[in-house]
Amino acid sequence: MQSNMMVNKSREQSVKAAETALANMAEYGLDPSPRNYAVWYAFAMGEPAELAKVLQNRMDHGRDLSQSFCDQLYNRYFSTKETEDAIHSASERIQAEMEKLLTWLSEASGGAEDFSDSIKSGLELLFEGDGLENLRTVMERMVTETKKVRSSNARLHKRLQESSSEISELRENLASLKKEALTDPLTGLYNRKQFDLSLRDAAVEMLEEEAPLCLALLDIDNFKKFNDTYGHQVGDSVLRLVANTLSKNTKGQDTAVRYGGEEFALILPRTRLEDAERVCEQIREAVAGKVLRNRQSGEALGRLTISVGVSAYEQGESLEQFFKRTDDFLYSAKKAGRNRTVAG
Ligand code: GH3
Ligand code: MG
Ligand code: MG
Repeated sequence: MQSNMMVNKSREQSVKAAETALANMAEYGLDPSPRNYAVWYAFAMGEPAELAKVLQNRMDHGRDLSQSFCDQLYNRYFSTKETEDAIHSASERIQAEMEKLLTWLSEASGGAEDFSDSIKSGLELLFEGDGLENLRTVMERMVTETKKVRSSNARLHKRLQESSSEISELRENLASLKKEALTDPLTGLYNRKQFDLSLRDAAVEMLEEEAPLCLALLDIDNFKKFNDTYGHQVGDSVLRLVANTLSKNTKGQDTAVRYGGEEFALILPRTRLEDAERVCEQIREAVAGKVLRNRQSGEALGRLTISVGVSAYEQGESLEQFFKRTDDFLYSAKKAGRNRTVAG
């Protein structure tokens, strides 16, 4: 009984959210396209909370809710899933292509078991880990094994060639999709997903090497006000400016990330706390020193500042604790008046 009631309640909720979504799209003159619907349905359900907050804020200020704004929201909150689906289907197509090849090859070799076994074992490797490196190994094996097959079967060679080029195209496709899934489209920095991966890798390396590892969290000060005053587009160009400043002030082994809306993170391996603090101060000063102008109107925009929390990984703490501790330093920087770095 209980679970049935819960189902009914959540069904009622979704129906209501669907109605609200359609009504809102009509009110703002937006087409009821699947993308718009995804955004407005999410808004009506209040999930993701950040999307609901951004949209509510926009509505409260009577600012326009144009198609391009909806597209931005859609890209920010939903496109990763699409990219993941695309990766998945590219992987499946590669696998299917490889299996076809394998069948042709074993037919052509008259079913010589040793030969197809060698490739089969490679094929199993294919979807372990990254997959791309393994793919290369499997392709190489296939080429070698094919050469071994005495057959000068022209048909087989043609098929093999066709499949090879199909596979390399898919491989490139897969590599660029993977990159896209880990990149923030607005700034070109890494996204939160890559952050999780990089932080984990950096922590493992630092344990192995017994080298210091620092994490910095950087958050734009009073950015809501900035957006409300100058508009979302100017806000977006400011996000790109901060991202560029991060890139310029970090080097090879460092990872610069757009962690969330106006929050950034830096992973600094093999870096002592005082050096990490210096990098953060350099970035903070570079941002604060910029004179911002609206590119179209030439209007001078107010100063932009950021607050930073930075800390060094401590033996034995979990990555969650490390992150939380750093975030607490960021909070202290905000509380102490913003435009500063707090290290600990
Ligand atoms: P604080 O100094 O305490 O950090 O204040 P804040 O106003 O920066 O922080 P708050 O979390 O209240 O607001 C963050 C704002 O960042 C809300 C939203 O308007 C803006 N924002 C988040 N993501 C984006 C984005 O992708 N583009 C633009 N233009 N603005 C964004
Ligand atoms: Mg902020
Ligand atoms: Mg923030």
